[in-house]
Amino acid sequence: MSKSYTCLSFFKTNKISYYYEKPLILFPCPFCQKEATMNTFDGKWMCGCGESGTLITLQTNIDLYNTGKSIVLNPKKTRKKINSQFDFVIASLAEQKRIKSHVEQLKALTNELVEYLTNKKA
Ligand SMILES: [Zn+2]
Repeated sequence: MSKSYTCLSFFKTNKISYYYEKPLILFPCPFCQKEATMNTFDGKWMCGCGESGTLITLQTNIDLYNTGKSIVLNPKKTRKKINSQFDFVIASLAEQKRIKSHVEQLKALTNELVEYLTNKKA
């Protein structure tokens, strides 16, 4: 049975930044603050620094988190923010067609790159 509910509750309750990409939870490692990965199926996690464990390991080392400092990037949220900024600029440039065209190309290229990187990672 999946432990996803228990795992997600842990991160939410302890206000630890996380990003859920079923069945994985990406979160900051308590030891090195870089991105660690937890599999919600068995609740085990590992990090590139060599540390690994379970929710118990995280609970035991909860003091290592400096609340608000360790943030895991949520690519979907960030992409949405970037696109909304582009849309604002594009709308503002309605009268300046040449610049508007360049910003529209920037938006398309940014999304193309994100799409490529996202698929490469998955
Ligand atoms: Zn680590």
